[in-house]
Amino acid sequence: MKKQITQVVIIGAGPSGAVAAALLDQHNIKVIVIEKMLFPRFSIGESLLPACMEVIEQANMLDAVKKGNFQLKNGAAFHHDGRYTEFDFNDKFTPGIGETYQVQRAGFDKILADQAQFQGVDIYYQHQVIDLNLENQPLLTVLDEDQQPYQISADFVLDASGFARVLPKLLDLEVPSTLPARKAIFTHIEDNISSTAFDRDKILISVHPDDPEVWYWLIPFSNGSCSLGVVAKADFLENYPQDNIQALKLLVNEEANLKEILANALYPHPSGEIIGYSANVKQLCSDKFALLGNAGEFLDPIFSSGVTIALKSAQFASETLVKQFNGEKVDWQKDYQERLMVGVNTFRCYVEGWYTGELQRVILHPNPDPKIKQMICAILAGYAWDINNPFVTQPYRRLKAVAEFCK
Ligand code: FAD
Repeated sequence: MKKQITQVVIIGAGPSGAVAAALLDQHNIKVIVIEKMLFPRFSIGESLLPACMEVIEQANMLDAVKKGNFQLKNGAAFHHDGRYTEFDFNDKFTPGIGETYQVQRAGFDKILADQAQFQGVDIYYQHQVIDLNLENQPLLTVLDEDQQPYQISADFVLDASGFARVLPKLLDLEVPSTLPARKAIFTHIEDNISSTAFDRDKILISVHPDDPEVWYWLIPFSNGSCSLGVVAKADFLENYPQDNIQALKLLVNEEANLKEILANALYPHPSGEIIGYSANVKQLCSDKFALLGNAGEFLDPIFSSGVTIALKSAQFASETLVKQFNGEKVDWQKDYQERLMVGVNTFRCYVEGWYTGELQRVILHPNPDPKIKQMICAILAGYAWDINNPFVTQPYRRLKAVAEFCK
């Protein structure tokens, strides 16, 4: 069998894989990215957070993303039964970029991957990693586009394979998520929104009038279409038609504000669904591999944190690898896992708080304390690693106290 040798293999050319590859390439570390699909390809996860723009900038990809004609995003809006709140990402506790984009992921992911290639990274499209031997130096078995196997020997493996979770499966690292299984159904609509009051620069999160655990996303794009999705426990959705488009139409009609906004919407595109998307692992790294983005832990889509966590994982893993290849002493547990988990655990607290209702109470409060709103806004903008923010260092205690106050 043919064998190649490199310093780092990255499994998957999605956001975490492409950005990690570019960050390593900046330090002349030899990287090969193996990508199962041909880009562009569909992916869910279309609403970004400003904090991820800082990593994109570090990877020298910001200008290319800006030229992508994506819809600007400067905040998030929430609606429940006539109550409406907006968060402006420029009015936040943590300094840093306050704007981002709402992106069709097919085009966005291709821009990042093309930029990585343009900067010198090798990406093998339509090649699929099928095995990994970690007994000595990592040895991967890969199928090429003709389904012919070959091997790559590397010093280190980054798994950026998203929901495919290649290494967690091969290395038996998977553990059940602590979050209950939920289902998302979604499509792209031609929105025909005529309301001048509707702000296309913000994601709109709406809560179902009868069940606060059920929520909708409406993510406007720059071309007059929107991503529309509903998240609920699977048994709730069993009461709706099996045809997801029909179910989405019915659900939209049950939420008065969305019903009005989307009165003229057309549903010409196919739907998608994902069930039980939350995932967790026993460990995120060893001295031979690290799991990036969704290949590690995925929480919940409610705060659009997925791509930001994916890019922060790419940043932290590549910084640790650069030190390692420079001969410095590294501790993967501390330098990567514990560092990444600061933000993941912050988001976990707010995801849990959303579904218990505590966070909804705080977010939708009509007279918020401006300082507290800025601190929560910083987290909604993705600055979940800012240890100067008390809502990051003590998320559960702070949220509980504010939720109590908002009762
Ligand atoms: P991906 O983008 O999934 O890329 C993984 C790549 O690996 C793919 O291209 C795949 O083809 C490749 N691959 C897989 N297996 C192999 C293999 N064996 N060999 C080679 N290549 C392989 N996040 C947000 O930020 N905002 C949102 O609004 C948002 N909404 C979401 C809504 C829902 C319902 C869900 C479930 C998730 C949402 N997310 C959102 C999360 C977001 O989709 C992910 O966090 C993000 O795509 C993770 O990026 P990644 O780079 O880890 O993986």
